[in-house]
Amino acid sequence: MCRINNNKYPIKTISSLKLFKAFRNILFLLIVSILGWGCSTVPITGRKQVSFIPDSEMLAMSFNQYAQFIRNNKVIEGTKDARMVKRIGQKISKSVEGYFAQKNMAEHLKGYDWEFNLIDNKQVNAWCMPGGKIAFYEGIMPVCQDDNGVAVVMAHEIAHAVARHGNERMSQQLSVQLGGMVLSEALEKEEETTKNLAMAAFGLGAQVGYLLPYSRTHESEADELGLYFMAMANYDPRGAPEFWKRMNSEAGARPPEFLSTHPHPENRIKNMEEHMQKALEYYE
Ligand SMILES: [Zn+2]
Repeated sequence: MCRINNNKYPIKTISSLKLFKAFRNILFLLIVSILGWGCSTVPITGRKQVSFIPDSEMLAMSFNQYAQFIRNNKVIEGTKDARMVKRIGQKISKSVEGYFAQKNMAEHLKGYDWEFNLIDNKQVNAWCMPGGKIAFYEGIMPVCQDDNGVAVVMAHEIAHAVARHGNERMSQQLSVQLGGMVLSEALEKEEETTKNLAMAAFGLGAQVGYLLPYSRTHESEADELGLYFMAMANYDPRGAPEFWKRMNSEAGARPPEFLSTHPHPENRIKNMEEHMQKALEYYE
């Protein structure tokens, strides 16, 4: 007896490991969504968020991509600006770690490995990858103007890392994309999808032609936490609305890259004013 393959598509051999991985992922997502696992709480703001990618995986992916970025781009070393970025980054991250230790929340920052680099690039831009991997582009330094201006951007980026916005964005996207995929598609696209999503979620999406915009929730949360974090390190949080006013006028001249992921300076200034009183309590 012989069987005729009428299928016009060739039969693909799927390795049992790949099959296992795909089943495992889909089962995992299903269980997560049914049981409401993978929910965590953002420190200080108390907002509930989804973040079901294990920290170990998230950090490994992030550190890997950051190292790759640093290899492929020119890092400025030893100049006044480069030292300023490192000094202010260390000062704020130390203050935040101190605060978390004092509140018995040190566990939240476990595995973080802070790094602050100034990149030789005229773009008005700065970003942070999960686990505290931060890049400032040279072009943003004139908008920062001084220590306090650098502290505004730094504290905002540190806030994205502390609030695990990268994990949340990736979790949201993965549940949409993998959840809606049939098994065979997931098998083929899984790795590429995951990689592209990570890039997009970390703010490097432009390199793969796909950018995940920061949600308004993430932006106002990073603005709020950023005020507290800079204040904890003894930088005056009242400098933050001033920075965004400068960024706004920069946008008139030429739209900075920073605004493609950080829109609407006008709206955020109002939000910052609302949290200023609380921020000043951390400052004094
Ligand atoms: Zn932001």
